[in-house]
Amino acid sequence: MNLKDYVANVPNFPKEGIQFKDITPLMSDGAAYNYATQKMVEFAKKQQAEVIVGPEARGFIFGCPVAHELKIGFAPVRKPGKLPRETVSFNYDLEYGSNTLCMHKDAIKPGQRVLIVDDLLATGGTVEATVKLIEQLGGVVVGCAFLIELEELNGRKLLENYEVLSLMKY
Ligand code: IMP
Repeated sequence: MNLKDYVANVPNFPKEGIQFKDITPLMSDGAAYNYATQKMVEFAKKQQAEVIVGPEARGFIFGCPVAHELKIGFAPVRKPGKLPRETVSFNYDLEYGSNTLCMHKDAIKPGQRVLIVDDLLATGGTVEATVKLIEQLGGVVVGCAFLIELEELNGRKLLENYEVLSLMKY
């Protein structure tokens, strides 16, 4: 199966000059969606993950089916103000401005083996913040799985000490 057949390239979205990778055609094709999530399941098994963590919103689309298939838990990473109980947070810089991500304080048990799942690795800012949150909680990041990696943005450089799976590279 060639997963790239199910990704639409949208020029100038959400801003001029950006080539947005739209994964909704992949999600709407049952066989392609299942194939992609099964590849992540295989990786999660190999890494002996005990819980899946996914950043909102598209990390949920891939992370939850992986957790469900493995009968393990899923913990969300969210923007500030969305999680109702006590959280830990991590702030990181963007090209313009900054961003904060949060997790519930009890989302990960100390020593738990965690696989991070997201749709796309670009600069790596989101996944790096997610790693920091998990490690603040005492979790052990055993890998990061992405549907798409935008290689020229070098996000993988921030993940040198981690196992990375990407199902498509651009
Ligand atoms: P990073 O933090 O720069 O690595 O960006 C990754 C995050 O931005 C992921 O959570 C993606 O969902 C989102 N993202 C960035 N570019 C795209 C894109 O072209 N298509 C879909 N999501 C994107």
